[in-house]
Amino acid sequence: MTTGRAAVFCKAGEPMVIREFPVQDPDEGYTLVRLSVTNICGSDLHVWRGETPIGRGSGMECILGHETTGTITALGKGVSSDALGRSLKEGDRVVFTYYNSCGRCLACLRGDENQCGVSLMSVIRPATIAPHFTGGFGEYYYVSPKQRMIKVPDHVSNEAVAGVNCALSQVIYGLLQAKLSFGETVVIQGAGGLGLYATAVARQMGASCIIVIDAVSERLDLARRMGATEVIDIKEIPDPKTRTGKVMSYTEGWGADLVVEVVGRPEAMPEGIRMMGRGGRYLTLGNITPKACYKEDPSILVGGNRSIIGVSLYPPIILKYAIDFVAREHERLPLFDIPTLYDLEEINQAFVDADQFAKSGKGVTRASIRLAS
Ligand SMILES: [Zn+2]
Ligand SMILES: [Zn+2]
Repeated sequence: MTTGRAAVFCKAGEPMVIREFPVQDPDEGYTLVRLSVTNICGSDLHVWRGETPIGRGSGMECILGHETTGTITALGKGVSSDALGRSLKEGDRVVFTYYNSCGRCLACLRGDENQCGVSLMSVIRPATIAPHFTGGFGEYYYVSPKQRMIKVPDHVSNEAVAGVNCALSQVIYGLLQAKLSFGETVVIQGAGGLGLYATAVARQMGASCIIVIDAVSERLDLARRMGATEVIDIKEIPDPKTRTGKVMSYTEGWGADLVVEVVGRPEAMPEGIRMMGRGGRYLTLGNITPKACYKEDPSILVGGNRSIIGVSLYPPIILKYAIDFVAREHERLPLFDIPTLYDLEEINQAFVDADQFAKSGKGVTRASIRLAS
């Protein structure tokens, strides 16, 4: 019987262990994918640091990772095409949505699969139960019938496409939900992967002014190359009130139409809320840590007709928009440059390096695990 390797996570502070699991033929409706590359996403780091219940140790051994892509090795009975009806065969490269909705709740009934409570919980599943390969840091992945697969165009590399099903899809959906319109002004808090993608997408959606805030000058340089019109370096302007004043001056005293939070820290919210103009929207995408709180005066929202929008996951159509975007832009935008690749055995070091970069902006800008050459 064929076996495959995967990095098994148990709890924060304990190194992931490489284990072998049997690779079974896909059941009816399932697809077996040989993964090629999986990025370390910010939410993987949240779990790895112990900032979520699973990260603190739930007793479940699991395979982290969901920003991934791979090649079909076997199609289960009944699977002959991708989510767009294009025929599929062994050897085709695909990306896929990484969640499974329940199909039996109000959100699913109204077609909002990303709002289903099961969808968010389904991202991390037990590795000890067959078919085992349900996470991105393994050599294989069983794509369920509920996960939507889309073929990857031949001219786009695995490395360029690996960020499509999480980071890129997430910001596209967030900006659509926040109703970013042509000519509007945007502030982006944080120039990590999400912030850089958000900059590029906001640019294409016609934002007139895009102000990106971060504490790492190298990231702000990248933000400019992705389409930022102004950048604010927190190291140079440590006072939040002065930063808000900068935003006001860049927006002719009005404030931003849309502020996007992609730093994952609640303390960024009071500052960002004050950067909104009247009628502005505040989109929070990064605050996924439970019980990390912020304190704010709600009359700022009510009196100025301002609103806060929280978004998690995305409906499957967004995956198509994201792939089309990469197919158009991968040669022009620096975010699709080759990441630093680690072998599966080096995954613990890759997480240490990714964590260091997330905290200090030093070292490896983008860490990915190479699962096949
Ligand atoms: Zn992710
Ligand atoms: Zn549901």
